Amino acid sequence: SLETESELAIKKDQKYLWHNITPYSETNPPMIATSASGSWVTDIHGNKYLDGMSGLWCVNVGYGRKELAEAAYNQLLSLPYFPLTQSHLPAIALAEKLNEWLGDDYVIFFSNSGSEANEAAFKMARQYQQQIGQHYRHKFIARYRGYHGNSMGALAATGQAQRKYKYEPLGGGFLHVAPPDSYRRPAGQTVEEFNLQCAQAIEDTIVWEGVETVAAVIMEPVITGGGVIVPHQVYMDRVQEICRKHGVLLIIDEVICGFGRSGRKFGHHNFNIKPDIVTMAKGLTSAYLPLSATAVRKDIYEVFKDNSDDYGYFRHVNTFGGNPAACALALRNLEILEQEDLIERADILGARLNREFSELLDHKLVGDIRSFGLVTGIELVEDKVTKKPVHLDTVKGIIAKCKAKGLIIGKNGDTVAGFNNVLTFAPPLSSTDEDIQFIVDTFKSVMSES
Ligand code: PMP
Repeated sequence: SLETESELAIKKDQKYLWHNITPYSETNPPMIATSASGSWVTDIHGNKYLDGMSGLWCVNVGYGRKELAEAAYNQLLSLPYFPLTQSHLPAIALAEKLNEWLGDDYVIFFSNSGSEANEAAFKMARQYQQQIGQHYRHKFIARYRGYHGNSMGALAATGQAQRKYKYEPLGGGFLHVAPPDSYRRPAGQTVEEFNLQCAQAIEDTIVWEGVETVAAVIMEPVITGGGVIVPHQVYMDRVQEICRKHGVLLIIDEVICGFGRSGRKFGHHNFNIKPDIVTMAKGLTSAYLPLSATAVRKDIYEVFKDNSDDYGYFRHVNTFGGNPAACALALRNLEILEQEDLIERADILGARLNREFSELLDHKLVGDIRSFGLVTGIELVEDKVTKKPVHLDTVKGIIAKCKAKGLIIGKNGDTVAGFNNVLTFAPPLSSTDEDIQFIVDTFKSVMSES
């Protein structure tokens, strides 16, 4: 019977599968998904959930897209693989399209995950600096609370202690500064003043470390996984100015913010800045297949062209990176985002969520609500004056109640630093009006009991 089948799957899951983070628990086994359509996922018991996080911020066009499956299927039949030490047509077509989306001259290097895209960016930045004679420039500056991946370099760039302390030493040369968390700015400071001060911390770090030792700054346009921290325009302007002034490259991590999530093609388009390197993954394929990319400004790529000896080679091979099926699928995914106006829709739906959620600011636990396109973060505090974060159990309780009512939402922050108090919402950009209403109604009803 169906019941025994699901019981068996749960047993086998517990026996054979090592999950990402979720601890082993006999009493509270993980949800086993079996199918999905639009914004809704069905589990092994037949329960349906609205996926208010698009998986891990990635299924931007929603589930069940036959055109994406077909794009991959057709490509797998004609050419399933060829290494990008040489070339193939789907990679060329996608690189051209990404260039168009970025709106500037970039050259594209493909990998398979966000972490790998960032690792490639770090190696490109260091080598670029060497190629132009800046041999001491090896350091990177990132922000606390930012997340950039799970591998030794990308994790070193990550500014969340909880993810790092058990695995050190990580890649060397990574420094961190505080992000522009305007909600917690000192009393008496305007948001603008505070943002400028946070940007200044980056310049101070560059100067005190020794200008000629710093290779690049890496940041997300908006810190997403670290608690939805949205900078003021003056911050991004100033960061770009500081990087240019000191010969430091600016790497923008668009792994979550890219591909319409922010209401623009890329998150950094909202701030009108021109990064030297852009990394992307997740929404590039809406997570239907693994694929990531590191886009490098043409003038930076140019210095790698002189490879008359070994020094010009970018010594970085990625066997699976730019897989033809993944590229063909990504191209179709970008077309869907364009054809269905899903980028504009992110802004419309995000604005609607905010309007509906704004009344929750009167709730005793809600300290702040922040958003960026179709990303919303609700910061929960015990006390609105001291802004002391609520206990993790409160956050988990709210998430569990939402799940019991059929809504999946996320939590973000840093347990070790004492902050894991931001609830997050990032449903598919293709969500219907009814889907958004379901999120609003369900969450409000949970909060009315919390
Ligand atoms: N950068 C950011 C901003 C991310 O959110 C993530 C994943 N959550 C990564 C990089 C790493 O991506 P991946 O898990 O594909 O390695």
